[in-house]
Amino acid sequence: MQQNIIEYFQELVRIDSESRNERAIADKIKADLSSLGFRVEEDKCGEQTGGNAGNIYAFLPGKTELPPILLCAHIDTVRPGNGIQPEVNNGRITSATATILGADDKSGVAEIIYGIKDLISTGYNYPPIEILFTVCEEIGLLGARYFDKSKLKSKIGYAFDSEDIGEFMIGAPSQNTIKVKIFGKEAHAGVEPEKGINAIRIASEAIASIPIGRIDFETTANIGIISGGTATNIVPNLVEVKGEARSHNEAKLAQVTNDIVSAFEKAAARHKLENIEAKVEIDVKNEYKSFYMDESHQVVKVARRALQQLGIEPGFVKGGGGSDANIINAEGVAMIIAGTGMHGYHTVDENILIDDLVAGANTVKEIIKAYTEA
Ligand SMILES: [Zn+2]
Repeated sequence: MQQNIIEYFQELVRIDSESRNERAIADKIKADLSSLGFRVEEDKCGEQTGGNAGNIYAFLPGKTELPPILLCAHIDTVRPGNGIQPEVNNGRITSATATILGADDKSGVAEIIYGIKDLISTGYNYPPIEILFTVCEEIGLLGARYFDKSKLKSKIGYAFDSEDIGEFMIGAPSQNTIKVKIFGKEAHAGVEPEKGINAIRIASEAIASIPIGRIDFETTANIGIISGGTATNIVPNLVEVKGEARSHNEAKLAQVTNDIVSAFEKAAARHKLENIEAKVEIDVKNEYKSFYMDESHQVVKVARRALQQLGIEPGFVKGGGGSDANIINAEGVAMIIAGTGMHGYHTVDENILIDDLVAGANTVKEIIKAYTEA
């Protein structure tokens, strides 16, 4: 393993690992975890994701009798993520070329591994530690979805996959994806438009009538994709619309989803010919469930104590996105998401401060200690 976390992080980001191509980084990380004393397994989720590697699950037996604590990060990156050349300027690591840096989420991986490595080297009586490094997080949380969560013995866990050091996401919304197909009736638009049913018109009426954007402080909705029609002189018979709704409150999510669905159904019902009706096909899929941990929960208290040790003022916020933590929480492990110091993620301006990498590893270490000493 590399000398220190700064070199280690740069080593990790040099290894290509866009989603579905995590083989090389998985092999590197498995070897490193083994060298720290972890029992390491890789599952076969690549068969389901279409990727060349599985999730890495690793277990370190403890020196004290406690239930294990879970640490989580993902090992895939978004694009453009091949051939990354990290460079250090004024204490900040960036990508030298037009690629992402991959701090999302290799900063999380490096901080977890070096936080634990450091803790072991101090002779500390650490508890059993579980690590889950997932694949294909960036393309729909696929690794976490296919991972056999019954393996997890921890009651609490931390995903290192957010921005500011000291900031924890203690809640995230639930999300529904909504796909609508509207079937009208084709006709020549100039010769006999009265024999047609215009699917674009139906879509327009529905979209104009639905809630969109920020619905309230914890609920959002969006129509993101629309396609349909083939020519200006043809009354279009098919439109496809795709959108989503998110809320931290499951009842509100159900309500806004229902409002969207019924808007399309009502708009279609208004458009019929003598013997032909417009039709809609609507597919609603829940992508992940919401979670929320209040400040009295052990997982939050441990984080607070750890940050106190580091002299960092903690922040506890609700996020707007979905992550592996949504999937893990749904299986009964209370997991919140810690900042790693990454900034500008999913862009070629992605960067991280060296000081933040070090602080992230210290956060890992202090979380394990706070958990042990509670
Ligand atoms: Zn991430």
